[in-house]
Amino acid sequence: MRIILATSNAHKIEEIREILKDVWESMEFVPMKFDVEEDGKNYEENALKKARFAYEATKTPSIADDSGLVIDALPDILGVKSARFMEGKSYAEKNITILGMMKDIPPEKRTARFTCVAVYYDGTSHIFKGEIKGKISYEPRGKNGFGYDPIFIPDGYDKTMAELEQREKNHISHRARAFRKLASYLLENSL
Ligand code: IMP
Repeated sequence: MRIILATSNAHKIEEIREILKDVWESMEFVPMKFDVEEDGKNYEENALKKARFAYEATKTPSIADDSGLVIDALPDILGVKSARFMEGKSYAEKNITILGMMKDIPPEKRTARFTCVAVYYDGTSHIFKGEIKGKISYEPRGKNGFGYDPIFIPDGYDKTMAELEQREKNHISHRARAFRKLASYLLENSL
């Protein structure tokens, strides 16, 4: 079966391909870029808007996701606006700026979480959510992953997400948790 993967983020496509590897071969996932304004008030609204737009443009079942990082000490700057924070600047600059804003925040108040909402839309929406909790580091570390990975230390680890092997990130991440639920749905319903 043919399914549109409505994202243009090459990192996300690679991660989703790895997470869905058991179903990737048996289904035909087609990555496609759509210009949709992400103006929803939460991850669900944005993911649904992208998946529905792709479905209506192609008349083909479509998957989209929306994700972000919430830092409890800086609750208003990221979240659903994670991609737009300091727009135009590199993630190296964004991460250094965030760490500067948090330089006096003690370890126990550096809590944060990544959330991903994945939507499968075939005329009806099916919504799957994944989350990973952790802490913000004191310096950026690691070269893997993308975005805010170099400053996020998942609970139970002493490495940042960008220091983990890609395979390990794709085992524990918010995206993995959401997309594994979506894959189970596709398999259980023989889609
Ligand atoms: P969107 O889901 O494409 O709207 O983008 C969400 C934004 O959240 C990304 O551009 C990153 O800034 C951040 N983000 C989401 N998932 C991750 C991740 O796995 N690692 C690092 N940053 C992420």
